[in-house]
Amino acid sequence: PLALLKDPTLLKTDGLINGEWVQGASRFDVLDPATGLKLADVANLGPADAERAIAAANAAWAGWKNKTAKERSIILRKWYDLLMANQDDLGRLMTAEQGKPLPEAKGEVAYGASFVEWFAEEAKRVNGETLPQFDNNRRLMVLKQPIGVCAAITPWNFPLAMITRKVAPALAAGCPVVIKPAELTPLTALAAAELAIRAGIPAGVLNILTADDQNSIAVGKVLCASDVVRHISFTGSTEVGRILMAQSAPTVKKMSLELGGNAPFIVFDDADIDSAVEGAFASKYRNAGQTCVCSNRLYVQEGVYEQFVEKFAAKVKTAKVGNGFEDGVNQGPLIEEAALQKVERHVADAQAKGGRVLVGGKRLDGQFFEPTVVADATADMLCAREETFGPFAPVFKFKTEQEAIDAANNTEFGLASYFYSRDIGRITRVSEALEYGMVGVNVGILATEHVPFGGVKQSGLGREGSHYGMDDYVEIKYVCIGDV
Ligand code: ADP
Repeated sequence: PLALLKDPTLLKTDGLINGEWVQGASRFDVLDPATGLKLADVANLGPADAERAIAAANAAWAGWKNKTAKERSIILRKWYDLLMANQDDLGRLMTAEQGKPLPEAKGEVAYGASFVEWFAEEAKRVNGETLPQFDNNRRLMVLKQPIGVCAAITPWNFPLAMITRKVAPALAAGCPVVIKPAELTPLTALAAAELAIRAGIPAGVLNILTADDQNSIAVGKVLCASDVVRHISFTGSTEVGRILMAQSAPTVKKMSLELGGNAPFIVFDDADIDSAVEGAFASKYRNAGQTCVCSNRLYVQEGVYEQFVEKFAAKVKTAKVGNGFEDGVNQGPLIEEAALQKVERHVADAQAKGGRVLVGGKRLDGQFFEPTVVADATADMLCAREETFGPFAPVFKFKTEQEAIDAANNTEFGLASYFYSRDIGRITRVSEALEYGMVGVNVGILATEHVPFGGVKQSGLGREGSHYGMDDYVEIKYVCIGDV
């Protein structure tokens, strides 16, 4: 699939340290999850490379923070333009290494680029404050300054957007970055870095440490232990988030964490059922169910349960599974064998505990899994507690509003939640009662660049995107001037 790139020079396979592409002492393979075929071998960088990248970023910091906000803004805007000008190639790289259907991949390129555009604009609005003096001989100011060298550790499910959502605000604020992209999807990250260089981001300001799974752990330790790295932003599993937090405790690092979810999707009796079916389908099956905001548990009120389940199953039956490069495919492969096994385990457990399989239920040849719907789900099933991260929708039945709220909140996670209702009182009550960082009412998709994305409870810390997304990359300094 990569032979068809319009600009073959976007296929980069080396890491990037201090503006130079580095081959690394060894290499690791990147595979196409749709075919199992090797796409490329990529530099496998380790702890010593991580130390060099941190030092390069630190050396580049002064030059970058001393540019005016407008100068940084212009460079970021140029990066945005280049990402969009190369949308087709970036989409192609992404589908090849990640598997999502090509239109969805191009959609992610636009979404990922939109964070660069947004923070190019926000760069000019990192405003400080003056406060009223408590003594007329003094003046009080609040400065916002770039926090320093930032590290970003990112997952494979959004190979571009999870990088730009962290890196764009860091760069806009005046911070250099060291990025450790997911080992399964480094090619999109490296192409984006090549475009960053073309946009004029100076050497050392943006570094990329590609690494296999073992070296990722070793590089993570170096990033956490470093005194020079002032901030770590991570998107991925709650389990790895906890490890990074523990490793960062000795250096008391600032952290932004976007971790796992267990999104409830609630359909009340008064909902528009057709709209709820569309919303549930979009929320559950995009990216083959591999997003942290995908609905994990569908709760439907008893009065509309059978009607919803029937319409939803009919909709899911229309989904086309296949290689993401084929026309009309809605769902590509899962990312790896372990992901398939988890979905299989959740479906088998649901069946064993009385779940009714209405659609799908089985794996297909290769790394594909049928879009699956299981009715009569119950709270003792694995899928009620764990994030499936795959194309499996368990549908639970409930009686009262309070019962739905309690079930939805009965999890250590708190990222995205969704519900459908047309009653304004209920919309208000339920929106307020859900212990989640994000609530979608009568919608199944809610992320965009200018809204705060993030979770409560064990789904993470901090917010990404929006004007709040800059907060984690600046330190607030109070300056008190006397003898005025
Ligand atoms: P996912 O569930 O999305 O596979 P992971 O949390 O396993 O998420 O991985 C997300 C990112 O974290 C990847 O870039 C991966 O290489 C990295 N990672 C995994 N384990 C560690 C670790 N112990 N230290 C640092 N990075 C890690």
